[in-house]
Amino acid sequence: MYPPDPSSAAHCTIGGNIAENAGGARAVKYGVTRDYVLGLEMVLADGTVLRTGGKAVKNVTGYDLTRLLVGSEGTLGIVTQALLKLIPLPGERRTARALFPSLEGACRAVERSIRAGTVPAAAEIMDRTCLEAVAGFQGPALDSGVEAAVIFEFDGDGPESLERQIARALSSCREAGVVDFRVAASPQEAEELWSTRRGLSAAVAALAPNRIGEDISVPRAAFPEIVRRIRAIGRQYGLVIAAFGHAGDGNLHPSILTDLSQPGARQKVDQAVGAIFQAALQLGGTLSGEHGIGVTKKDYIAAALGEAGVATLRAIKKALDPQGILNPGKIF
Ligand SMILES: Cc1cc2nc3c(=O)[nH]c(=O)nc-3n(C[C@H](O)[C@H](O)[C@H](O)COP(=O)(O)OP(=O)(O)OC[C@H]3O[C@@H](n4cnc5c(N)ncnc54)[C@H](O)[C@@H]3O)c2cc1C
Repeated sequence: MYPPDPSSAAHCTIGGNIAENAGGARAVKYGVTRDYVLGLEMVLADGTVLRTGGKAVKNVTGYDLTRLLVGSEGTLGIVTQALLKLIPLPGERRTARALFPSLEGACRAVERSIRAGTVPAAAEIMDRTCLEAVAGFQGPALDSGVEAAVIFEFDGDGPESLERQIARALSSCREAGVVDFRVAASPQEAEELWSTRRGLSAAVAALAPNRIGEDISVPRAAFPEIVRRIRAIGRQYGLVIAAFGHAGDGNLHPSILTDLSQPGARQKVDQAVGAIFQAALQLGGTLSGEHGIGVTKKDYIAAALGEAGVATLRAIKKALDPQGILNPGKIF
């Protein structure tokens, strides 16, 4: 199994995944792209072909260039080959969907479940706006008492391990007020539960003329608090902010739904985005969990890394690409 599984898997490339250090639903248990890249072949700005890493399990010869290059957003070189790690497939998988009367309750359930010792392979959270968006496309209307859902995936060696994990997760969900907990009885039913999550991005984007999607990441324990703060930011600026993400690893995708052609809308969105980033940093989190800095977040990077951090990144960039020809304008 190659665990990194971005939701864009159907159309993205391994080179792009490495450039962005892509994550996905299974990061909570298995980590992100960085954890599976053993070595790289990169073409540097001056045409030099650089090979890093290798198959040796232990390797501390020189700086860890592989880790530096993963997530460098195409600003330090072009990935032309990658040596990737595979792990054994888990024996069995089960999918469950839990419905909650509050988004905070759903966040609490995931956190409690992990604290109780059950690390699901995935724990994807969606608020009511997201669920309504998908229901509009795919299925039956949503019960009025449901404010959030979590899709859990559990995997393990056999039925006993899976039953134990599901029982612990159910108990944590009950403590957090779950109103419905459905374990898929067949692969088809599991696929049906997952299809809600897969269709989400497009369904949410269709709710308004513009969707500004963010990608903050906070320590797992701070997930309920960041959700609370984002809801408060939405109220403060009079904006609908749909929330979905990887609750198991603290990576949230707040999506601001708006019409940027309306007077003052852009300014309100910019202020709300700034407030979301500030909240994430205050809680010990960061600006991006998986999409990187690119063009849109570069104004905020100093707040996250500090002046010394940014100066170090600039020094590396200058050393490897003195003329700034690789992805100019990104990150800096
Ligand atoms: C609907 C949707 C869902 C998504 N879900 C996720 C998710 O779950 N998890 C996640 O992490 N991301 C997600 N993403 C973001 C994106 O798909 C990922 O960042 C992905 O890794 C990008 O890969 P790509 O091949 O599409 O790269 P591109 O978008 O083509 O490029 C991304 C950047 O990488 C650089 N790049 C591309 N190839 C190389 C290369 N060979 N060498 C060096 N630099 C290169 C490009 O110059 C660019 O700066 C999602 C995006 C969409 C649209």
